[in-house]
Amino acid sequence: MKIFTTVKEIQAYAKEQKAAGKTIGLCPTMGALHEGHMTLMRAARKKCDIVIASVFVNPVQFGPNEDYDKYPRQFDADCEKLEKEGVDAVFHPEPLEMYPEGYGTYVTVESGITNVLCGARRPGHFRGVATVVTKLMNLARADEAFFGQKDAQQVAVVRRFVADLNLNVHVNMVPICREESGLARSSRNAYMSAEEKQAALVLSRSLKKAREAYDAGERSAAALKDIVSKELATEKLAKVDYVDVYTFPALQPVETVSEESLLAIAVYIGKTRLIDNIILK
Ligand code: AMP
Repeated sequence: MKIFTTVKEIQAYAKEQKAAGKTIGLCPTMGALHEGHMTLMRAARKKCDIVIASVFVNPVQFGPNEDYDKYPRQFDADCEKLEKEGVDAVFHPEPLEMYPEGYGTYVTVESGITNVLCGARRPGHFRGVATVVTKLMNLARADEAFFGQKDAQQVAVVRRFVADLNLNVHVNMVPICREESGLARSSRNAYMSAEEKQAALVLSRSLKKAREAYDAGERSAAALKDIVSKELATEKLAKVDYVDVYTFPALQPVETVSEESLLAIAVYIGKTRLIDNIILK
């Protein structure tokens, strides 16, 4: 597996692969890789000739009081996992390589989709995501890009700017990978104590209850949110940030679920902010 740290190296590699007629799949990550990330690699491996993963903790998508400094970094272990999945190349730049002195261009999705859910709570977050993903797609000359449903709003944002900017990249959404307990895998799970991890099971449990009600015919967004909120309230370590339902991927408000919709939650377990969701079809 090739490891690139500079823009020049990855550009040369992508150019070579395109000249050889290969299709390129890109899997952007921030590292501290777990089984959820590996499901993206496998989807890319299946669909594309060349798989490029990026491991980059993107400073531009973190707010001033967020966890940029303490975000887990374990590049050697990440490379071992990527190599096992048959990833062809990993791009691991320093922040200054991506944002050198004088850097001044950002991609801002201005449609309402960035004003709700995490977009409303994390100002500037999706501007940072859209900027880095645009740069990575461009650098890797990606034909396909792979993202997890775990960050469903991110998928909606990426699909929006890919369409708006006429980027010739197909955006794939991979289902949420969970631990056997139901907990959605996340690099941030490592912040939690054993007791907090146990408490965190309330997220998937609450969504499961909503799913059951939906399957039994419940279509009122307020009622579905209520089911989730009531279950979350049973866990004393849980502090709700949001419980909301929007159409997917347009992220328009919903009263009665009649088209594909996203029931998304963000919950603090102690100091760790976790997100999870289900898509109602
Ligand atoms: P991150 O490193 O957290 O920025 O995640 C990189 C990519 O992996 C994003 O597209 C995430 O949505 C995806 N991802 C993270 N956790 C999971 C999971 N549990 N299941 C599926 N995809 C995931």
